Parts: sequence; structure tokens; C-alpha cells
Amino acid sequence: MCESLSQLIDMYLCNILPLKLFLIWCLRRRLLTNAERCRRNLSASSLCIGCSDAAETALHLLRDCRDTRRLWKQLIPKALEQHFFSTNLQA
Ligand SMILES: [Zn+2]
Repeated sequence: MCESLSQLIDMYLCNILPLKLFLIWCLRRRLLTNAERCRRNLSASSLCIGCSDAAETALHLLRDCRDTRRLWKQLIPKALEQHFFSTNLQA
């Protein structure tokens, strides 16, 4: 019993907690994207290093970048695609 609880805690700390922290950073705009680095004068370019099509914001990385978009298209139902990709999530 204790061993499985310990394993559960380990799984939480190793797998879920980092994901939660990552999402919190994204929500609080703490993710150091190229757009954020450029805003802080830490980078000359705000462009995404993955596609160079747009500024590398958290939303671009998590939803709109070419490779990410390809992944989402495999996961979300076709009927929801347009809504998913066109919803403005900027606060
Ligand atoms: Zn991109």
C-alpha cells in the first residue's frame, strides 16, 4: 500500500507536476518564448524557430505552429477544428 502510494506520488511529481507548472507558466506568460525574449531585448528576432511563419508566442507554440497544428488535427474532431483554431485565447 505504501509502495503504491509512493509510486503514485512519484508519478505525480515526475509527470503531472511539470505539466501543471508548464501550463501555469503559459497562462501567466512566463514561458520564455522568442516573442518574450525579443520583448526583453534578449533576442533579435521574435520569430518561431520551428516554422519562422509567425512570432513565437505561447499560443503559437501550443496551438498554431505547423507541427503542433498537425498534432491537434489528429486529436480533435473535424467538426471542432475551425472553432478550436479560430478562438482568440489572448486575454
Ligand atoms: Zn511556428
